[in-house]
Amino acid sequence: MNALSNKSILVTGGAGFIGSNLCEALVKNKNRVYCLDNLATGKLENLSELLPLPDFHFIEGDIRDFETCKKAAEKAEIVFHQAALGSVPRSIDNPLLTHAVNNTGFLNMIEAARLTKVERFIYAASSSTYGDSKELPKVEDTIGKPLSPYAVTKLSNELYARVFADLYGLKVIGLRYFNVFGRKQDPNGAYAAAIPKFIKALLNGQSPVINGDGTQSRDFTHINNVVAINILAAQIQNPVAFNQVYNVAYGERTDLNTLLKLITRELAKLVSEVAEIKPQYGPARIGDVKHSLANISKARELLNYQPEYSLEQGMKKAIAWYAENL
Ligand code: NAD
Repeated sequence: MNALSNKSILVTGGAGFIGSNLCEALVKNKNRVYCLDNLATGKLENLSELLPLPDFHFIEGDIRDFETCKKAAEKAEIVFHQAALGSVPRSIDNPLLTHAVNNTGFLNMIEAARLTKVERFIYAASSSTYGDSKELPKVEDTIGKPLSPYAVTKLSNELYARVFADLYGLKVIGLRYFNVFGRKQDPNGAYAAAIPKFIKALLNGQSPVINGDGTQSRDFTHINNVVAINILAAQIQNPVAFNQVYNVAYGERTDLNTLLKLITRELAKLVSEVAEIKPQYGPARIGDVKHSLANISKARELLNYQPEYSLEQGMKKAIAWYAENL
């Protein structure tokens, strides 16, 4: 882990999957961490080890309220903006809510960061921004048309970030995450991600449901790689590294059938009956891209990013955690 320490840091969405892992790493590195979250999808349980600590402060509040954002940003030298409503299907079901949180909330937070003169604003962007682009691997400068309201909000965040950097000189860095997985990712609810859903189903002795034929592929990225690049982004001094977006992935693609075989194999080491469970196949989801794979050269060159955990290494860690905590 890198030595970012002794800073006042605001993590929005810090009670969620990525945010809570990031808060933990930042507190461990001896920073004062403020977490702003309205607990829409996040949980205080994700912060149970941090809440008693004097260097950790939980602020319950909504990024759709500008004054809340400004008050929180006043405490910070660095902002990691993670708060958003994730999930493509959720945005298709409720585009107004996704817009309010992901777009208005983002604008509130970046404006608050500008007015309170934070040193840098690092935000969660998304691989969904590549939309209908067929190019593989994905390179930052070549994007297609968004395929969902969620993707529109994430693209719009990048446009705002660029304008805030160009007009106001705010130091911004966007991190386009590709299918992140690992400890504390929520397996519950209609909008849960595939990996925790598969693990939960198998642990309950049920058949996991694959949407489509399972040949769709993703660049699955372990949470520790994501935390590491956020910390690198907070430390980098090279001026060329600012006002940029970066792919955050491992740089390999795996289809869902292969992914499920890997999960089943690893889980079967703990619960042998899991080996017999076969998947069910459901209808393909609209708004999803067929294949996704990142070129991570830009992050390697400008942020010194070196993803430490492959899918297989990360999966062993994730499964160990779920087996204990589900
Ligand atoms: P998550 O749902 O676990 O975390 C999001 C957090 O934001 C939650 O704690 C939630 O309560 C909070 N939040 C939602 N609405 C809010 C509001 N109005 N005010 C304050 N807080 C609010 O999701 P995650 O997977 O940890 O995602 C974190 C960020 O990364 C999001 O911006 C997401 O779009 C982005 N992202 C995630 C992935 C992934 O694979 N998990 C991929 C690409 C991008």
